[in-house]
Amino acid sequence: MRNITIKLGYANMDVYKCPSCEPPYNFSSSPKCPNCGGKGELVRKISFVDAPGHEILMTTMLSGAAVMDGALLVISADEKCPQPQTREHLYAAMIMGIDKLIVVQNKIDLVTRERILESYHEIKEFLRGTPYEDAPVVPVSAQRRVNVDVLIYLIEKYIPTPPRRFDLPPLMPVIRSFDVNKPGTNVEDLVGGVVGGSVLRGLLRVGDEVDILPGAEVTVGKRKEVTPLSTEVRSIRFDSQSLEEASAGGLVAVGTSLDPALTKGDRLQGNVLGRSGTLPAPLQRLTLDYSLLDRVVGVDEMVEVKPLATGETLALNIGATFRTAKIIGARGTRIELELDSPAVAEHGQRVAISRRFQRRWRLVGHGTVS
Ligand code: ZN
Repeated sequence: MRNITIKLGYANMDVYKCPSCEPPYNFSSSPKCPNCGGKGELVRKISFVDAPGHEILMTTMLSGAAVMDGALLVISADEKCPQPQTREHLYAAMIMGIDKLIVVQNKIDLVTRERILESYHEIKEFLRGTPYEDAPVVPVSAQRRVNVDVLIYLIEKYIPTPPRRFDLPPLMPVIRSFDVNKPGTNVEDLVGGVVGGSVLRGLLRVGDEVDILPGAEVTVGKRKEVTPLSTEVRSIRFDSQSLEEASAGGLVAVGTSLDPALTKGDRLQGNVLGRSGTLPAPLQRLTLDYSLLDRVVGVDEMVEVKPLATGETLALNIGATFRTAKIIGARGTRIELELDSPAVAEHGQRVAISRRFQRRWRLVGHGTVS
């Protein structure tokens, strides 16, 4: 909600499988098989949440990580590995509990065969001792479309669509929100506010009554207040396709009956959407059991992480929700925090913890909601 100045970018892709060709050359992002020219079958829809390398705010990237089923760690073969942001991204994936990772060794068309091998060894060395030690490394030239079919094949194999939990009510973290109306549209032609995110569990249907919590920040007199929102799902879209329902996998845009002014410019980013009456009440105070990294991530020099102390202000990513919070109690590996603004948090949920360092929030550890 605050401190988010870089927007998350995302793109959707259809995955086609050619029935006549052998893996890994039978996968493509277009219906026409690039191998034999035959017609591929649509097997899956995937979405990419972009987390660009330099100067990205860690907290923005972590918001996106909340809806990721896996990560592609893109490393340029023409640069020494790891770059500081590469380390930062790897730790972020680890801390957000992403267990499926594929390393994309990009720009192989720009370097010699020797450098590709050297870069491969740097990558393997970098991953050694991390949970991603055995992650596949695929050499690619995105520019020249070399090995893109192999990459799609590996995504299919290592990052399958997550299991769908239809026994639970639908839940969707909101990572974007928009007003899709063109300026000057007549009031009677206005379309309701749109929220974008990924359904993590359950099935969301057109016609569902939903709550969006904690809600929208509004000014009442001189004070700022957060008002919970209730609305109806009017439409669900994946790219240009209209859907009647959405479940886990892929980013969708959900049309609502809300005043579009409420959703304009990512105003509802960080909220949680769920069936009416099923979401936990937003919390103003939070207790976390935490553990810290040995060193601050994302800076060139080796900086040790000092223990957390009462009175200090931290940044938290609770799913797609960003909050700053003050430590009001610390004992052992447990802290109690006062949030700057209420947030929806579930028992056992993973929270990324950042601390201000050199004028930026830097990842220092993670906690679970107690
Ligand atoms: Zn084919």
